[in-house]
This record gives sequence, structure tokens and C-alpha cells, in this order.
Amino acid sequence: RAARTVSLHWFRKGLRLHDNPALLEACEGATHVYPVFILDPHFAKPDVIGVLRYRFMLQTIKNLDDNLREIGSRLFVVKGQPAEALPRLFREWGVTKLTFESDTEPYAKVRDRHVCELAAEHQVHVQIFPSHTLHDPEAYVARLQGKDVPTVYQSFVKLFASMGPVAPVAPTVDAKRLPSPAPEYLSGRDRKKADQGNGHAGGEKIEEDRTRSDDFSVPGLSGIGYPETDAPTLYPGGERAALARMQEHLANVKYIVTFEKPKTSPNALRPSTTVLSPYLKHGALSSRLFYHSLCSTLAQHKGPHTQPPVSLVGQLLWREFFYLQGHATPNFDKMVGNPICRQIPWGKDAELLGAWEEARTGYPFIDACMTQLREEGWIHHLARHALACFLTRGDLWQSWEEGARVFEKYLLDADWSVNTGNWLWLSASAFFHQYFRVYSPVAFGAKTDKEGEYIRKYLPVLRKMPSKYIYEPWKAPKGVQETAGCVVGRDYPHPVVDHATVSKQLMGKMKAAYDANKEGGAKGEEKSGEKKR
Ligand code: FAD
Repeated sequence: RAARTVSLHWFRKGLRLHDNPALLEACEGATHVYPVFILDPHFAKPDVIGVLRYRFMLQTIKNLDDNLREIGSRLFVVKGQPAEALPRLFREWGVTKLTFESDTEPYAKVRDRHVCELAAEHQVHVQIFPSHTLHDPEAYVARLQGKDVPTVYQSFVKLFASMGPVAPVAPTVDAKRLPSPAPEYLSGRDRKKADQGNGHAGGEKIEEDRTRSDDFSVPGLSGIGYPETDAPTLYPGGERAALARMQEHLANVKYIVTFEKPKTSPNALRPSTTVLSPYLKHGALSSRLFYHSLCSTLAQHKGPHTQPPVSLVGQLLWREFFYLQGHATPNFDKMVGNPICRQIPWGKDAELLGAWEEARTGYPFIDACMTQLREEGWIHHLARHALACFLTRGDLWQSWEEGARVFEKYLLDADWSVNTGNWLWLSASAFFHQYFRVYSPVAFGAKTDKEGEYIRKYLPVLRKMPSKYIYEPWKAPKGVQETAGCVVGRDYPHPVVDHATVSKQLMGKMKAAYDANKEGGAKGEEKSGEKKR
């Protein structure tokens, strides 16, 4: 170890002080720790990452900065390419150690390899920790000893069980553990906290006006080229909100022990599942903390409780399952060159894709789901099912890659591994093969919301449509449409396709594609067919 350790901890995901082993390592033996977040232009593209997710991310790093200041440190927010920004910071601060959490997404793998080379050139020692998932995806691969990664959930659950216990949650980084950055980067108030944390009574007295004025603060949306938005914040970003939301759910023991995903409603007006996904995606909440908290709640309960795949632990295992797939499968986010993906001759129709993305398919349930997604950034799992099935094999025959791109843009929780994996599933391209099980854009929503309250909320144009026609307004007599103030073709579109006809035709096309794939063959054929999700 260098005599004088100056650490730079690079936050990417893992935006938290709890269960952050890489940040703890940064603290180890260091005189100064610089917590850094880099605003990489690769991600700052409004067409690729929508404004709601970017706002969520900025709220998350703002909360991280606040939490660091509470313990006498701060966040250094830097704009630029990591490969340019980091060497500059290494030199400026005399960094000897770089720590970060590993990331299995393709862009991150290339970026991190390059950064490690640059660190070596600057004699900076790098330490990387896997803490985004319950186990390191690479550890599953090692455990498989050359065997294929399981593409069936139940086989994955066996693999998970064979891995031994999930690592305990690492201690939260606090003022005692975290050495502060050089004092000139702290305001007088923060410096005082740093001195207290380091056990100094008053510390060296540095006047406020000697504080280094810097450009390391958390910017607003416009500061990075995004439009401002006045969309309400339903799910505020940050570790504090994440922990509060998790605790709120854990306090409801009945909810935890009886949770059965397929029985939760896609069109409830208040979310019927936890909405912890945006926090887990950004690592504002540790999946290990959530997992251990769930396990101890279940253990204390003593009575019966639901099990994977439908329980909450089961949901975390789905996440784990898709992370492993994403890590181990070449070209995971593409059809071509992806060994587990069926080759299906999807159409390419900008009109149909546009109608779906802009919530004007003429199917109120589908358009309401899409509107909720675009306006609020989160929709229920089964609403995602309905949208994904409709775009691909169910109705529009458009590529799942296009659908994944749209979800990537609008979801607060957009997560490369999980989003891709679920699109592969819903389009029956991999994992799930019962392509003849198609969601009806009319009957499916009506099962849990007969009166169409969800549609009325998200599509106000249909607010006055009688319940009898709320899922199929084109069937309402003209007079009824007039009275409801919603004439189909004038105020709300006609259906873009006729579901009954088209879904049958598309099943035939799926069968043909499946038959053609039998020769070439996608890897990982599933015999049993998994239903319950
Ligand atoms: P809960 O039911 O409360 O589950 C708790 C946690 O388990 C979630 O926060 C999530 O981290 C994990 N989880 C739950 N379901 C799944 C699942 N099917 N696969 C993997 N992990 C799961 N989830 C994302 O996090 N990011 C995505 O980009 C994403 N894209 C999806 C795209 C499609 C087409 C579909 C069908 C599903 C997608 N999901 C995605 C999975 C799932 O819909 C969401 O994780 C879930 O709805 C989030 O809400 P929640 O936090 O209330 O979930």
C-alpha cells in the first residue's frame, strides 16, 4: 500500500452509502477520499434517456451529495468522458487508489477496461467490487464450470441455491469511516462536520472565503442540455427515498408474506407492487439489503408465505436471472448474433411503431398503459407484458428491439439486462415459447378494472364513455359517442389493427418462424414452458 493513500471512489450505479463495499475500500487507510460522479455524455441524450429518468438520476446524486455532506464529505460531479476526466483528477488530487462497483453492461465493460489501463499508466491501484446483484454474475459463470447459463428460471433457482448464502450487507459508510477530501473543497459547515467525524475538536481554521469555488456541484436538467419538466415527481430519486419506501413495504408484513405477482393488478390506480425498481436500478437501494430484509421479515413471521417465482424474493431472483443472461450472452440486446434469440422476420412499419409509442393505437387499455409510462415513468409488470405483446407477436409484428428502445427511454427503472431479458421473453424470442398465449388488448385490462377507471384517468378523452364501451369505444353507437364527447375517428383513433384477425395471422407467422428456427436453432430450448410471472 502507498504510504499516503488518496482514494477516488467512482459512483456510477451503486448510488448509496449503505452496502457499498467499494466505497468502504476507498476509505481503508486513506488520508483523503474523493467521491466522484461523472456525467458521461454517452448517457445524456434526451432521445435515448428520457427527461424523467435523467431527472430521477440527478435527484439521486443530489441526495447522495446531501448524505455525503452530512458526514463531512461531498460529491464531486464532473462532466465529460470518464477516460478524459479521470486521468485529470488522478493528477490534480494525487490519487493512488481508484474504487468502483463492477458493471456488466456492454458499454460499461469496455469503458471500465479502458479506465483500468489509464489508472495503471498513472500508478493508480484499482479495486472493483460486485455489489449490484445478490451474487457476482461472474461467480455464477464460474460455478457452472463451462456449462451453459440456464435459460429456465427454475434451473436458475437451483444454481442460485448452490451458490451458498448471499453476502451480508456491508456497514454503512459514516463520518468515522469516511476521510474527507482536501479541506479547500469543503464549505466551512461541511468542514466542521468532517473534523468532528475525524475526531478533531475544531480542526484547522480555514476562513469561508478561502473555500475553493468549484464547478463540481450537481447541475439542473438544463445544465446538461435537457429540457426542464414540470411533470410531478411521483417517485423521488435518492437513497433516502429508497430506504423509506422499502421500510414502508416491510412494515406491511401481510403484504410481504402474501405477495403473489400474478395476482397484483396492472391497472390499479395506486401501484400494486413495490415500485422499488427505479431505486434498485440506480443502486440507491442495495438488492442485498432488500433481500436480507425480506428474508428476516419472512423468518420472523413463522407462518406460511409465498415462494419464488411469484413472491418478492422470487422477483429479486428474476432480476438476478436476467443480469446473468445479460452478462453471459453475446449480443444480448440484439436478435442477430444472439445465440439464445429466435430469428423472427419482424416487420418494419414506422406508422405502427409510432402509433404504439405515442399512445394512439385505438385500444384504450394499451394507450392508457403507454400514457402512464410516458407521463410517470413507471408501469406495472403486467402492463409491460400487455404493451410488449401488442407491439410484437400479438398485434403489430414490430421488433422487440424497437420496443426495448422505447422502454429504455421512458422507464425510470430502465435497466439494460432486465429490459432486454423481458422483451426477449414477451416476444417469445427466448425463455418463453408459448407464442399462442396472447394478451387481448380488450379483455385483459377488464379482468381487474371492469369500469375502466384506469383508462379514464390516463385518457381523459374517454372519461365519459360508458363502461360497456370503455375498452372498445368503436363499438359504441354514434349517439353514445357523441354524448360521451368522444367520437372515434375524430377525438380518439380507430384501432390500428383488428386484434381478433391479426393475432391469429401472427400466430401462424410465429409458428413458421419457430419451425424455421428448429433447423438453425436458438440455444436453450425450454421444454416445460414457464407461465407464472
Ligand atoms: P416488484 O414486483 O415490487 O418487484 C421487486 C423488484 O424485483 C423490482 O423492483 C425489480 O428489481 C425486480 N423484478 C420484478 N419483476 C422482475 C422481472 N420480471 N424481471 C427482473 N426483475 C424483476 N424491470 C426493471 O427493473 N427494469 C426494466 O427496464 C424492465 N423492463 C421490463 C420490460 C418488459 C417488457 C417487462 C415485461 C418487464 C420489465 N421489467 C423491468 C420487469 C418488471 O416489470 C419490473 O421490474 C417491475 O414491474 C418493477 O416494479 P416493482 O419494483 O414494483 O416490482
